[in-house]
Order: sequence, then C-alpha cells, then structure tokens
Amino acid sequence: MSAALNADLHCHSTYSDGLLAPAEVVRRAHANGVELLALTDHDELGGLSEARGAAEELGLRFVDGVEISVSWHDDTTVHVVALAIDPSNDTLMQGLAQVRSGRDARAREMAAELAKVGIHGAYEGALRYVGNPALVSRAHFARHIAEQGLARDVKSVFDHWLAKGKPGYVAHDWATLEQALGWIRAAGGVAVLAHPGRCRLSGKELRRLLGEFGEQGGGAIEVLSGAHSTQQVAEFARLAREFGFAASRASDFHGPGESWVDLGRLPPLPPDLTPVWQLFV
Ligand code: AMP
Ligand code: MN
Ligand code: MN
Ligand code: MN
Repeated sequence: MSAALNADLHCHSTYSDGLLAPAEVVRRAHANGVELLALTDHDELGGLSEARGAAEELGLRFVDGVEISVSWHDDTTVHVVALAIDPSNDTLMQGLAQVRSGRDARAREMAAELAKVGIHGAYEGALRYVGNPALVSRAHFARHIAEQGLARDVKSVFDHWLAKGKPGYVAHDWATLEQALGWIRAAGGVAVLAHPGRCRLSGKELRRLLGEFGEQGGGAIEVLSGAHSTQQVAEFARLAREFGFAASRASDFHGPGESWVDLGRLPPLPPDLTPVWQLFV
C-alpha cells in the first residue's frame, strides 16, 4: 500500500481517556478521510470490537491496537503502541489486566497528594469523567481540575500538578519493556515506540532506549505524531533510518478540542521510510 495512505494508527476512546465512544472515533476518522485506522486505548482492548464493527459498516480498514504503559529503567514512563495484535490472545489479555490493576490505587494516592496542596475530592471528581472504572488516568484528573476553574485548560493542569515532579504526580510501576514486547510478540503484533519526542530523555538516553527497543523486537517508531514539532519529525525520521525502524503516522487523538491534531490530519511520511502498515496489511 502507498506511503501516502491516510493512515492514523494511534487514538483513544472512552474505554481509556478519550472523549468519544469507539464507534464515534471511527465515524470521525472516516469523515476526516482516514483510510486505515487503529484504535489504541491505554492498556485496554475493550473498545476494539465496537470500533471494528463501525469500521466494517463504513468500509474503513481497521487495525486492532493498544497503547501499553511501560516503566523503562525504573523511573521513565514510555508508551509502546501495539498494532495488528490478536485481541483474544491470553498472554496479552493477562498482561494488560496486570497493568490496569494498579491504576485505581495510584489514582487514590494522587488524590491524597493533591489534597495536601489544597485540591480536595479529586478522586471522586475524576471518576465523573471516567468511562471505564479500570482505567482512571491522569487525563481524567486534569479534566476535573480544569472544570473546577483551577487552571485554564487540561495542559496547564499537567504543568502545575500532574507532570512528573509536580505535587500530584505519583510514581508507578507499569510493565517492563521486555514484558510489553513479549506480550505483543505473543499476540502476533508489531511494537511501535509511541511519541518518542515526549519521552523527556536526553539524546544519549533516547539512543539507548531505541537500541534496547530494537534488540527486544520493536519494529517501528512514531515519526509523525500529533505531539511532534516539525523539527522532531525530522529528528525521528533520521533515527528511524539509522536504527532501521519502520515509521508510523499517529495523531494520538483524545477528543475534539483536546488534542494536538484531529484524526488523520497529519502530513505524509517522508517517502524513503518504510510505513509501518507495510509490516501487517
Ligand atoms: P496516565 O496513563 O494516567 O499516566 O495518563 C497519561 C495521559 O495523560 C496521556 O496519555 C495523555 O492523554 C495525558 N497527558 C499526559 N501529559 C499531558 C500533557 N502535558 N498535556 C495534556 N495531556 C497529557
Ligand atoms: Mn491518553
Ligand atoms: Mn501516550
Ligand atoms: Mn496515546
């Protein structure tokens, strides 16, 4: 398939921290001209069947995906998108259940930390935004706190309270890189390093991450991401060439008005890179 395909291989629904139901995500992608779509909820496969059904009705090509939360060398959180996985694979399902199981306790701890800086009732408040009780995310806290008028938008809530180093941040053990890549391999999928530009790593650490990711079976990186600047796109295109990774095109759409770019609204991949969809379509 052509490198110029309007593929969007990373987005979220109400099964994690997106604002739209899976079928609504699919309809919006179709209306925006997307030709190949993956739904990639955080640590969760529950929205895939609804999304696939909606995509089939519209004749839109659909890829089963998930975005796995990983703790790399203890204290760096990185995200790995799995594409074209078998969503009924036991190893993957059990692994993701394990990753999800820590989220509720973490959310209660976050609320306790936020209470210390004067933000009370944040757990209950965040829950009002949660579509899936197993998947309480910082994004739900951010929506609640912004709605309270404590910050002008979700991004400033992260800047003040929820980003690493801020008062409401609670360190958490997600999957190891080795576990996540093992589950993806077991489920027959392709592992893609999500938004490398948001990993907050030095150049040296990033190269180390890319090296380990490749050695452990990672196949692609998100060169185009809604979170990347033009300069970062060029940098990750260079790194994809150097490390021999295929390239993904990924909005990371969470909902209207809350995302960097809308579904499918990304530039084409640099033509010399191997589009990740050539590995599974
Ligand atoms: P969690 O998995 O609970 O740690 O939440 C991570 C989610 O929070 C990401 O997937 C984004 O949806 C959201 N997020 C993280 N950092 C930011 C930010 N700076 N601005 C807006 N949303 C963010
Ligand atoms: Mn998210
Ligand atoms: Mn992510
Ligand atoms: Mn995402």
